[in-house]
Amino acid sequence: MKYISTRGNAPELSFEEAMLTGLARDGGLYVPESIPTLSADEIAALAGKSYEEAAFVVMRPFVGDAFTDEEFKGIIARAYASFRHAARAPLVQLAPNHYLLELFHGPTLAFKDFAMQLIGQLFQFSLARRNERVTIVGATSGDTGSAAIEAFRGLSNVDVFILFPHGRVSPIQRKQMTTPEDSNVHALALDGDFDDCQAKLKDMFNDFDFRDGVKLAGVNSINWARVLAQVVYYFTSAVSLGAPHRKVSFTVPTGNFGDIFAGYIAKKMGLPIDRLVIATNQNDILHRTMETGAYTKEGVTPSISPSMDIQVSSNFERALFDAYGRDGGAVAQLMEELKDGSFAISQGAMETLREHFDSGRASEEETNATIASEFTATSEVLCPHSAVGVKVAGAYLGEVPMVTLATAHPAKFPDAVEAAMGARPALPPHMADMMDKDERVTRVPNDLGALEALIKERIAQR
Ligand SMILES: *Cc1c(COP(=O)(O)O)cnc(C)c1O
Repeated sequence: MKYISTRGNAPELSFEEAMLTGLARDGGLYVPESIPTLSADEIAALAGKSYEEAAFVVMRPFVGDAFTDEEFKGIIARAYASFRHAARAPLVQLAPNHYLLELFHGPTLAFKDFAMQLIGQLFQFSLARRNERVTIVGATSGDTGSAAIEAFRGLSNVDVFILFPHGRVSPIQRKQMTTPEDSNVHALALDGDFDDCQAKLKDMFNDFDFRDGVKLAGVNSINWARVLAQVVYYFTSAVSLGAPHRKVSFTVPTGNFGDIFAGYIAKKMGLPIDRLVIATNQNDILHRTMETGAYTKEGVTPSISPSMDIQVSSNFERALFDAYGRDGGAVAQLMEELKDGSFAISQGAMETLREHFDSGRASEEETNATIASEFTATSEVLCPHSAVGVKVAGAYLGEVPMVTLATAHPAKFPDAVEAAMGARPALPPHMADMMDKDERVTRVPNDLGALEALIKERIAQR
């Protein structure tokens, strides 16, 4: 299996190379050159299999000869061993034809663990075999940083540095990043906001001496291996609701378009998905794009579902690439136009996008009301992101079973949930003492030279 760039001007890579590289050299995103399919019989045979067994069947065609079957099974087993629910991604019923897919039973209580835990094990395996070390640096506004730290902590071939804006992440998110004791984990509180963290990260990747010197690697949501890991739970949940004999729809709380793009890949692989509904909060660039055909940046307004507060949705480029008949030149042109704030999507490409995706938006008031009303109706406590999904899904309920993705545990956002429904969600028992644990964090100035010096010094100490 070869991987090609969405901008058509970067070398073709193997699965392993695409995973270790992240972003393509032409600025594009890697996608498989073709999408493998599973037959209806192969999909039906997933029924009754464990999550790990299904993950192997779904992901195997994408990895090529990077690993033997036994090696890949071992990687998958280690990735999901730390999840707290035997089903990994259990379904609960909200209403006669509406189900919630709980994706928050991993170590950091958000769906990002599904991809990060896998990518941690994939990196460790590949690097150990190549006898290489890498330095992973990430910038986070909350969930991604803790998921990356949990995935890479204690791994011998990796140092992980996470930059977060000092004083601007929630207490739980900060504790998740600062309390792991492993010596390869480095939490850095930067004097600045999230945009400063991201800008510093970009500067480090553009400083080629530094980048090559410390073997910098990225694991942000455009990494193909992260998308691939998320394809699996579309299969497991649809099969448990009767696929491939019955169609199933999904509503996905969306920010960077990674999670819902995984659903699109599942559909391309042969899973009978009826509707894929993009659910946005008040930062609704994707919903506006689906309505108008114009992709236009606007400022971000902070919301109670912060992991979906985005201005530009990076993985949407992968959907555009397909909608434009896999014409990398056309995508490169659109991304050039976006530098001035906006681009218009051709009529043909919009028709293709609308064939696959529906969309909706939930306001802050609607999100709050949904948390309260779902708790009253079903006793299910929704996090604000999941509540955006449930609200938007409401307009698409019908004969086809609808699965809404619950992307985080409500206890990660206790203030918002308490304000909406009057009760404060508790952390799961195994994490209850987290708020009392000692923190290990280094405060850093918003200065590239100082950051790079600190990272080099820490690596030299290991
Ligand atoms: C990251 C995140 C999202 C958005 O997922 P994308 O793949 O970026 O669309 C939604 N909810 C939560 C809780 C998240 O952490």
